[in-house]
Amino acid sequence: MPFTPYHFGPSGFLGLLLRRWIDLPVFLLANVILDLEVLITHQHAYAHTLLLGAAVGALWGLAAYPLRRFFKRGMDFVRLPYKTGLVKMIVSGILGVWLHVLFDAMVHYDVRLLWPNKKFMLMRLITKPLSRANMIATNERVELACMILLGLAAVVYVVSAALYIKCQRRAKDNIPN
Ligand SMILES: [Zn+2]
Repeated sequence: MPFTPYHFGPSGFLGLLLRRWIDLPVFLLANVILDLEVLITHQHAYAHTLLLGAAVGALWGLAAYPLRRFFKRGMDFVRLPYKTGLVKMIVSGILGVWLHVLFDAMVHYDVRLLWPNKKFMLMRLITKPLSRANMIATNERVELACMILLGLAAVVYVVSAALYIKCQRRAKDNIPN
């Protein structure tokens, strides 16, 4: 992916759909945290691997734990339910990083998904024959998939927020005076 915003399609869709089990803010922000590596080193290095990426994701989940009340306020603001815990945050950090790395590996030749195995290239696997034109075509397909998922994420969001608002209203109505 040329840049981080595309990642909000797949992560937003999956995160919203599975938000009962996934800490949505941690899962979404893992995309930003991970691309700090690209910003600093100008390449997909060790954080963009499943192995060390898991460590980065776990550390991010751990670091985010003190921010949970801040996340709760943010989720209240966008009308989404939010219940979290340390394990949930760590797991969400790891899964967020893995999803990001998987998408990057489809379009960037320098992502070593299975590091320390340096030979495996997901991009080579899905772009056949490997030529510049085919690489661009793969990139466009993945970007399109991300945009479609972003649209679907918006639909899931609207439905989730509407259900939450309805639930809150019902709970308020049931409180005896
Ligand atoms: Zn990346």
